[in-house]
Amino acid sequence: MATEFYFYCYPWDLEDEGIDIALTRLLGELRVEGVNVAAAYPGVTAFRPRQTYSPRTVRFSAGVAFQPDASRYASTHLRPITGGWIKSRNPLAKMVESAERHGLKLRLTVECCDNPPLAEKYPMVAGVNVFGEPMPDRLCPSHPDVQAYLAALIDDLSAHYRPHAIELRSADFGPGFCQCEDAAPIFERARYCLSLCFCASCRRAATESGVDGDDAAEQARNVIDESDAARDQWTVENLLNENRALAAYDQVRRQTVADLCAAIKRNARTSGIIAPIHDDPFRGQDAKVLSGILDGQVCQHSVAGPGDATVQSDTDVVLEPARRHVRVHASRRMFRDGQHLFREVGRIVEQKVASIGFANYGLLPEPCLDWVPQAIRFAKREVAR
Ligand SMILES: [Zn+2]
Repeated sequence: MATEFYFYCYPWDLEDEGIDIALTRLLGELRVEGVNVAAAYPGVTAFRPRQTYSPRTVRFSAGVAFQPDASRYASTHLRPITGGWIKSRNPLAKMVESAERHGLKLRLTVECCDNPPLAEKYPMVAGVNVFGEPMPDRLCPSHPDVQAYLAALIDDLSAHYRPHAIELRSADFGPGFCQCEDAAPIFERARYCLSLCFCASCRRAATESGVDGDDAAEQARNVIDESDAARDQWTVENLLNENRALAAYDQVRRQTVADLCAAIKRNARTSGIIAPIHDDPFRGQDAKVLSGILDGQVCQHSVAGPGDATVQSDTDVVLEPARRHVRVHASRRMFRDGQHLFREVGRIVEQKVASIGFANYGLLPEPCLDWVPQAIRFAKREVAR
């Protein structure tokens, strides 16, 4: 099957430009076959480089871009926080209707556990670190209310907006503790231990699996407090090989993330639930398990060095090309010029991946937007040879 091309779009950028005007341009001029709209988005602060937009800067806390169907959330105490910018309107419904009219495929992106406003509103479902202190920016994926909420959110979106696929973000324990520049350095294994959640749900999940959460917490505190540069060549992998209590606790986390993704998948009325998949102890992701649950893998195209771009290393690619969706930042930060992007897009298309999604429609300046249709034309021509 030929690679499909998408553009990642924030809903307010489509709305501010005019939904029909933007979608007409995306289909006709930018030559993509679909749009990937952020239906549940993280906090965003951005400058919009094109003069089309007013205001030129936007700042939104995490929220959803649609009016939730309350009846879908009966099994959870949590309710989506609707973005203040939409008021009583339902912009996502208009985008769906317009995309259908234009013949554009629609994918929706859903930010799952990275949600500070929701964690603040429902502190009982936020993460708790090994010192018993709240992790106020994240929902804990092990909490039954969070699992039911995310499953309901996917059910709501797939029932009312009929997306071709839904891309999950942060359906896991998150990237780990981030420190500020002024703080003492935290080495990898201490950072890992600091990222572990010991909320009541995580402890209960451990107990139910026959794992001693108290022992794991004590070991984690010891690792953090004894961490020093001399021993910190240790990777997380070393640590989990050496420490049975933490390895057992880690295994429960991986199962939690797998259970969450399975619950989401069960509630989705689309056969396309895709997400970044890594073997990542910080996030609690087990690539092999998740590749059996999810329909596709989102790979971030990354540039290894000047002029040396690559689609992740082989170890990060766990699914066959037909189930791979590559996200490409078509910006000057990633590519020297249009030629550089053309070559890379051509190389990715040769691998016969399912789709390439360019990020991000509202955030690219005009010259970078112009690269995209040329890259698509170039890639299709090369592959046809
Ligand atoms: Zn937890």
